[in-house]
Amino acid sequence: MAGCRICKREMLTVQGCAVGTVHINGKVYPRIKAGDERDFNPYMEDGERCGDCGAVKGCFHHFGCDIERCPVCGMQMISCDCEDVYYEWIEEE
Ligand SMILES: [Zn+2]
Ligand SMILES: [Zn+2]
Ligand SMILES: [Zn+2]
Repeated sequence: MAGCRICKREMLTVQGCAVGTVHINGKVYPRIKAGDERDFNPYMEDGERCGDCGAVKGCFHHFGCDIERCPVCGMQMISCDCEDVYYEWIEEE
C-alpha cells in the first residue's frame, strides 16, 4: 500500500492528508482541497475519492497527487515552477 510522504498515512484508509498547508517561496499557503472550486476536478460527488491520491472530497490531497493545484500559480503542484516549496510533514506515530 502507498503511504503519503508527509502525513505518513495509508492514502486509502484516511479521509485525506493531515497536512493542510504548504510553504512556497517563504510564505505559508492553505492547500487546495479535493473537489474545491479551484481544484482540477471541482465536480466530485460527496464521499468520492480523488482518482490519484484517494483523498475524499473536501479533504487535502496527499503528497505528490498529480491533480493537486499549486495555490500560488494554479498549475499542477508536482510540476509547477514555484520556488522553495516544502511541507511541514508529520512524524510517524
Ligand atoms: Zn498525506
Ligand atoms: Zn488527489
Ligand atoms: Zn506554483
